[in-house]
Amino acid sequence: MSHLPPRVRALRCRACGTEVPVGPVHVCEQCFGPLEVAYDYAVVARTATRAAIEAGPMSMWRYHMLLPYEDPAPPVTLGEGMTPLVHAPRLGEVLGLRHLYIKNDSLNPTNSFKDRVVSVATSWARARGFQVLGCASTGNLANAVAAYAARAGLRGLVVIPDDLEPNKVAPTAVFAPELVRVHGTYDEVNRLCSELADSQPWGFCNINLRPFYSEGSKTLTFETVEQLGWRLPDEIIIPVASGSQFVKHHKAIEELVDLGLVPDGPRPRLTGAQALGCSPVARAFASGSDHIVPVREPRTIAKSLAIGNPSDGADVVRLARASGGVVVAVEEEQILEGMELLARAEGIFTETAGGVTVAVLKQLAEAGRWTGDETVVAYITGHGLKTVDSLSGRTELAEPIPPSLRAFRRAYPELVNPDASPWRASTG
Ligand SMILES: *Cc1c(COP(=O)(O)O)cnc(C)c1O
Ligand SMILES: [Zn+2]
Repeated sequence: MSHLPPRVRALRCRACGTEVPVGPVHVCEQCFGPLEVAYDYAVVARTATRAAIEAGPMSMWRYHMLLPYEDPAPPVTLGEGMTPLVHAPRLGEVLGLRHLYIKNDSLNPTNSFKDRVVSVATSWARARGFQVLGCASTGNLANAVAAYAARAGLRGLVVIPDDLEPNKVAPTAVFAPELVRVHGTYDEVNRLCSELADSQPWGFCNINLRPFYSEGSKTLTFETVEQLGWRLPDEIIIPVASGSQFVKHHKAIEELVDLGLVPDGPRPRLTGAQALGCSPVARAFASGSDHIVPVREPRTIAKSLAIGNPSDGADVVRLARASGGVVVAVEEEQILEGMELLARAEGIFTETAGGVTVAVLKQLAEAGRWTGDETVVAYITGHGLKTVDSLSGRTELAEPIPPSLRAFRRAYPELVNPDASPWRASTG
């Protein structure tokens, strides 16, 4: 195993196919398309077997043979990945789907799917001698970069818009990165970081490290397929910000088929979810073109999806169409209802981005998209505690009562009255 030739062959432009040597670059010099990691799949195939994967660690690194990290030193890991794929019978009953699954990626080390991508980027950057690990972030990436920089013994440099949720800032600040707040939108923050990446010897996860970073997303789909018993689902609902992970889920599926890890057959429909207050990809999809018109000032509580000028947006539209999927957007109130629906039906508390995903699922189910027998998987990518403020005022708390049975009976007569109890039916 240690004598295998390198798996990673080059970086390759997704748009025009131009190849360049592996390095901290992310844009094609010929056409400005995105650079992606190109593997020597003959080498990958020698180690990518179901048995080898199943014998691997209980983390996303069981898929190391399909990730761009080949250093002999262990990767920088906090145990990310192998999050639960749970059957969702109660939510499925509401939506008329018997085989609905939630991939609960909020149960990652910093409670969002970003731990997958940052683990890969940090591992690669540290092996390449980078001392500073940076990012432009809408919150979750900041959280992950700060944690993984600490884990790796690197300097963290986190640049964020100044209007982020307090619950995303404090859990980032605790790792003591250089935390730069910018009075501007995410797209403005990203532009600033691009300029920094051009002029400083720093690794920015979502900029010059992007080809390595984005590969980590594939593991979410690899695991889902493994957890379904090495079976492709019929449809996947994916929240879309920059569109990076959406594109990589497509790549993951093709790799699984090409390597014979799943039988060749119909591919899942890939469906994207956005918030109406920042829905450049859904709008392009609806208009029948793949031209993305940037949203200058995103206005939505789903801040982790609030990227007005999504770099992979056009590819998302193209891949959604080609797979038979759709990209749709939902209103703010639907997002909150989506969070509450998932919590109340399945006991899973997701952030606003997950509310977007569930709301899109509900909207499509109500529009009659499914017969009921399809296997549908919703990617729940961030934890509810990150956006707990969005729910303030949604549930009124009862007045406290004295600690006595008398007081309980007085305050809740209907609960203790056997004839009137709303719990009668369920408690028999
Ligand atoms: C970053 C993020 C996404 C989407 O990421 P892209 O790859 O940029 O589309 C989805 N959900 C959550 C919670 C995120 O933090
Ligand atoms: Zn190109």
